[in-house]
Amino acid sequence: MSTAVAVFTRDLRVRDHPALAAACEAEHVVPLFVLDDVFVRGPDVCANRLRFLIDALEDLDASLRERGGALVVRRGRWVDEVARVVGDSGADVVHCSDDVSGYAKARLDRLRTVGARQGFGVVAHPGITVVPPGALLTGSGTTYQMFTPFYRRWITATWRRPVPAPKRCPLPAAIDLGSVPALATLTKVAPSPELPAGGERAGLARMRTWTATALGDYGEAHDDVAADMTSHASAYLHLGCVSPLEVATRLRDRAGGAAFVRQVCWRDFFHQLLAARPELARRDLRPSGKASGTEDEAFAAWCAGQTGFPLVDAGMRQLQREGFIHNRVRMVVASFLTKDLDVPWQIGARHFMRLLVDGDVANNQLNWQWAAGTGTDANPHRVFNPIRQSERFDPEGDYIRRYVRELADVDAPMIHDPPDLERSRRGYPLKLVDHAEAIAQYRARRNASASNRP
Ligand SMILES: Cc1cc2nc3c(=O)[nH]c(=O)nc-3n(C[C@H](O)[C@H](O)[C@H](O)COP(=O)(O)OP(=O)(O)OC[C@H]3O[C@@H](n4cnc5c(N)ncnc54)[C@H](O)[C@@H]3O)c2cc1C
Repeated sequence: MSTAVAVFTRDLRVRDHPALAAACEAEHVVPLFVLDDVFVRGPDVCANRLRFLIDALEDLDASLRERGGALVVRRGRWVDEVARVVGDSGADVVHCSDDVSGYAKARLDRLRTVGARQGFGVVAHPGITVVPPGALLTGSGTTYQMFTPFYRRWITATWRRPVPAPKRCPLPAAIDLGSVPALATLTKVAPSPELPAGGERAGLARMRTWTATALGDYGEAHDDVAADMTSHASAYLHLGCVSPLEVATRLRDRAGGAAFVRQVCWRDFFHQLLAARPELARRDLRPSGKASGTEDEAFAAWCAGQTGFPLVDAGMRQLQREGFIHNRVRMVVASFLTKDLDVPWQIGARHFMRLLVDGDVANNQLNWQWAAGTGTDANPHRVFNPIRQSERFDPEGDYIRRYVRELADVDAPMIHDPPDLERSRRGYPLKLVDHAEAIAQYRARRNASASNRP
């Protein structure tokens, strides 16, 4: 009797899941999720992502039960727990999805070593991205570092066909299922008050509604920050509740689909880059001199949404309330921290990872590098003027009013940069820096660092 273990990581779905489909070819399947201690220890645990994860695990368990199975849950050291379940169930193979971070790769390598010793195989499958990282290389055989040429290859490449959900996932007899933990047992930090529900059902429902109501206008409206017209698919894509391949395949030829699928390509682009260069989670792709800022009062004001720049503050308060920020505003707040306040991108990226429900090492760290000018931006010295951005992408000020209550009764255009008297009347802070002066200093630092380079 053959038994296979399907280890779920951040691929928490039954549709288009090549690893699960392969495991279901055995007579018995153990669908396993190990809550890796590494992700629930230490100061950077993200209650928002844990809340979403728990929803997703419960939903996955329900889908597996409909197929004659159930989710087996363990907690501890990932490799040890997977190996133990293989031993207890008498399985001879582990199927899982290939991932890109340095940690995920090292963890899988260790499992392969243990498997070779204990006599079980480990097979890694695609599923985390549309096109597997490393499948597309430049003409000279290197990893793409520029988005546009990557996109041209990616959109014309042959994609694999989505895999149907398995009909049956029969469990072996007498396996201890364990249980999905309660959030309070994992962290004392309360999640943000307005989080979406996690899970494949919630993700598919979100995509269905959004496709019917907003996809057609995506190309025109995705930068309208008040309209909030983007898909909010990011957390579902991060934990694999929806398949990026299935989403991209279904939507690419629909009205509005091309612009949307181009954004999904950014995700693949950053994933292939991190897979090839895992150190980019910490180090600059293009070093440009060391920023001098630290986690000081200015950084605290940025985190709290108290910089005196209404669009920046609205974004940072959206992050606290929803564990989410609109993409345009993420670019503005990241540019402000790294260029106006001269704080290293790593500090901002860490704060985002503590709160973002879609926090994702590849997307977060490499977008931070893009905004800081150390990454893949073809124009790395680009600066976002927070007041101009506000006037352009939130012209009526509705996004600001939604999150910055002190300015709720201020009209546009004044809301983008209220006079000092109006600020103090409403208890809203003065501007932390003079943007023009801060950027002049940023340019002087950049020029000095360029001329010091050999
Ligand atoms: C400083 C900074 C940090 C970021 N951190 C993250 C992060 O931790 N996790 C994350 O998923 N995205 C991150 N992004 C990218 C982007 O902001 C979010 O993916 C997007 O806002 C999610 O909203 P949505 O699903 O409604 O996007 P949509 O506009 O509907 O886009 C659809 C999907 O495309 C992908 N996508 C869109 N824009 C980007 C992008 N610039 N880079 C990579 N993928 C993209 C996402 O998977 C997204 O869900 C970051 C961007 C910046 C500037």
